[in-house]
Amino acid sequence: MPYLANEQRYGTMQYNRVGNSGLKLSALSLGLWHNFGSVDRHSNQQAMIRHAFDLGITCFDIANNYGPEPGSAESNFGQIYRRDLKPYRDELIITSKAGYYMWPGPYGEWGSRKSIIASCDQSLRRTGLDYFDIFYSHRPDPETPFEETALALDQLVRAGKALYIGISNYSAEETAAITKIFTELKTPYVIHQVAYNMFNRGPEAGLFATLAATKKGAIVFSPLAQGLLTGRYLNGIPADSRAARSDSPFLNAAAVEKQLPKIKALNAIAQNRNQTLAEMALAWNLRQPVVASVLIGASRISQIDDNIKALKHLDFTADELAAIDQVLAN
Ligand code: NDP
Repeated sequence: MPYLANEQRYGTMQYNRVGNSGLKLSALSLGLWHNFGSVDRHSNQQAMIRHAFDLGITCFDIANNYGPEPGSAESNFGQIYRRDLKPYRDELIITSKAGYYMWPGPYGEWGSRKSIIASCDQSLRRTGLDYFDIFYSHRPDPETPFEETALALDQLVRAGKALYIGISNYSAEETAAITKIFTELKTPYVIHQVAYNMFNRGPEAGLFATLAATKKGAIVFSPLAQGLLTGRYLNGIPADSRAARSDSPFLNAAAVEKQLPKIKALNAIAQNRNQTLAEMALAWNLRQPVVASVLIGASRISQIDDNIKALKHLDFTADELAAIDQVLAN
């Protein structure tokens, strides 16, 4: 059956402006870091992407090396795009990144002009797209001048390979430094992709203020702490969960055990708000004015359905915020 997008897809989603740019993002975006590799079921990938778009999620985030195999998330997305989403290209924000290790030799990672331009060209080939809506420098390169990285990204825009530029994993100081260069170049740098969730409040120490001062937006990744901030681990570690998967080395049983008391306490606060923990965790991230979108991952469509419900109850009372702070401080 050819895919026809839900006609009601723009009915309930919110779209937030990215800094003071003209770009708006759906309050939830879908990331393809996990569950979209060559080892993952293609029909499930297709179902999740269709379902997300049907719910008004317009932003799909990939990177050169997402898989496993590295590159396979881009290839898989490209197949699904060509089959289902191509008629909707102008309704989509499709993003990719260069910076982490992708191919052997001195040009397969980091932020040189050589690496960034070659990587973007590879990503366009794998996805079959003509351009990315946002192309990111995935991490700062300590050995390449920021002028070089910024100019390479700027060139991608001038060459029609990217509409907007983003950066990711840059500190507040690094962000301020490269922002100055982008401003001089008039590069359409608009967004920072940064880790932020209840268990990782790092950006509150300076980065969010830097973004607000320079009128840039944030899209926050791992907003559910890879699933810790959901009901997933309340009763043990399911065999099909990220913490149990051997191809997912960034979350493990020890991390679950360590955070479990806090997860349970936060879950109780969420229940008092008549929300799931996942919904509350996403609403909590979206309370930050610079955060345009929370970039979720999902392994099944029911998770997307749950997470989207966060939008029904975004506000917090001062007492609720204080209760959350207290749990996180202990
Ligand atoms: P999340 O914190 O949203 O974690 C997603 C995982 O949480 C899912 O795969 C699922 O795990 C579980 N989950 C999600 N919703 C629910 C729910 N409602 N109930 C129960 N469990 C749920 O984000 P990710 O860590 O996946 O990161 C999201 C995206 O951010 C990535 O895909 C990528 O695009 C981007 N990213 C960017 C980085 C960067 O350096 N710029 C680094 C990391 C991510 P399970 O498999 O157990 O079902």
